[in-house]
Amino acid sequence: MKKGRLLIDTYRCKWCEACVVEMPEFFFYDERTGKATATSEPVELTETLEAVIALCPTNCIEVVEK
Ligand code: SF4
Repeated sequence: MKKGRLLIDTYRCKWCEACVVEMPEFFFYDERTGKATATSEPVELTETLEAVIALCPTNCIEVVEK
């Protein structure tokens, strides 16, 4: 399975909480920015993760494939 790193464009994130609710193992609330942030570890690009990325209303979650 492919792996990649998650990047969140905090400018576009409107903190709807969807990613954090759906996958708290990868996504967190960042008190510093008041927006979502993601684990810095490489993650596997599972169907579940892709579904969560597709849920983001502002399309601000990116995967940089390794
Ligand atoms: S789903 Fe998108 S807009 Fe919502 S909190 Fe996560 S990154 Fe931000």
